[in-house]
Amino acid sequence: MNYARFRVKSYSPRLPCQSIVAILREMNSLLLTGGRVVDPANQFDSIADVLLLDGKISAVGSNLSLKTAAEIERFDVSGMVVTPGLIDLHVHLREPGQTAKENIASGTAAAARGGFTSVVCMPNTSPAIDNAGTVALIHERAEREGVVNVFVTGAITKGIAGEELAPIGGLKKAGIVAITDDGHCVQNNDLMRRACEYAKMFDLPVMDHCQDYGLVSDGVMHEGYWNLALGLRGWPSTGEEMIVARNILLAELTGTKVHCQHLSSAGSVALIRDAKKRGIPISGEACPHHYTLTDAAVAGSEKFWKEDGKDLAVFQGATPPQWPAYDTHFKMNPPLRTAADREAILAGLVDGTIEILCSDHAPHAGYEKEVEFDYAPFGITGLETELALALMQLVHTKRLSLATMIAKYTVNPARFLNLAKGTLRVGADADVTVIDLDREWVFNREDSVSKSKNSPYFGWKLKGKAVATIVGGKKVWTAAA
Ligand SMILES: [Zn+2]
Repeated sequence: MNYARFRVKSYSPRLPCQSIVAILREMNSLLLTGGRVVDPANQFDSIADVLLLDGKISAVGSNLSLKTAAEIERFDVSGMVVTPGLIDLHVHLREPGQTAKENIASGTAAAARGGFTSVVCMPNTSPAIDNAGTVALIHERAEREGVVNVFVTGAITKGIAGEELAPIGGLKKAGIVAITDDGHCVQNNDLMRRACEYAKMFDLPVMDHCQDYGLVSDGVMHEGYWNLALGLRGWPSTGEEMIVARNILLAELTGTKVHCQHLSSAGSVALIRDAKKRGIPISGEACPHHYTLTDAAVAGSEKFWKEDGKDLAVFQGATPPQWPAYDTHFKMNPPLRTAADREAILAGLVDGTIEILCSDHAPHAGYEKEVEFDYAPFGITGLETELALALMQLVHTKRLSLATMIAKYTVNPARFLNLAKGTLRVGADADVTVIDLDREWVFNREDSVSKSKNSPYFGWKLKGKAVATIVGGKKVWTAAA
């Protein structure tokens, strides 16, 4: 469709009324009125209208209603917050190969429901995203079946086996936005150094799941008091910190941007804080489970609420959610750690050490999780709850301003991955999220649209919710009032 011709003609007074309406509809236009617009990329935080025209941000300002053709659809968002479309840079869509857990259609539907207009999918699919053909397949399918934008990461090593580099240049040509072996971690430091050098040549950031296999061995939960009490094998914090330290050294050596995924330990935060002060191109991200829960949760809800849940009064409704000991929905990699680690992640988010928020949305089928703790796969879903949990732990508690929190879901990941997203600048893609900060809701299993139901947050009373998700100017999801 050639929109240029409509641009010329759309306001022509000679056109009959009916055709103006038709043209504006074809141009996919929407005027959001009266919301609090929070756009950290442009340091904008004010009540304003936002005009979306032809898939782009056309104007942001006051009283646009008066200046805009009456035929344009109005969307009253007064009392709501309007932000650039949220970006989650750590999502497992499980396609190709593991579509019993999730696929592009269901994963992006969950993203839209959570307020996300863009997701970045991880390459540990089957086969792994280690070749241009698989990248093309995902792009094609996302175009056809996805309801939000899908950006693709490529593997660092062939088959994510940690032995031989993947064709990084070819992957870049195919359109990947970063490389990572997420789910796995390259153990050979020389191979990781070469990966960083190649990535730099192709202007790609490197993301890393930090896990030293020797130290972690077959650990299934944090090594500390609770793994001993429960008789489960420990996954020590050092197992993460060793690789964070390695990545800092390699980022310094090669000058490549290296990003440590899903940070879980106080030691990792301290290492990154110190390295950033020295100007090393290292960064990190945090997921809601690591800044809300602790390892006491593996001992059951009673122990959790008594030991580490006291400070989470904000999470408790009339009855705090209950779960048994050894519940595999509290098994993730890296594992839930201590209350001190949780505080350190929060402190890292507050002082800017951790600039990016994400979910590590990791769907697993029910039959996979319904086994003994030792045998269950690591990971939980997260796209539909992460915004509420971030608002509750960071904004409602006044640890962070709303704008700073939103930056960690918009401009910060966009800049890190060189995406032309995460801003409401005029001319940018019309990706917008509308948020009701105070909406209280309960996350019910039957409301989740992910194919998998492996969330520890079912039954939790949450506060704050995306009420509309707009991609390229089109509402792809709106919440019932
Ligand atoms: Zn991971």
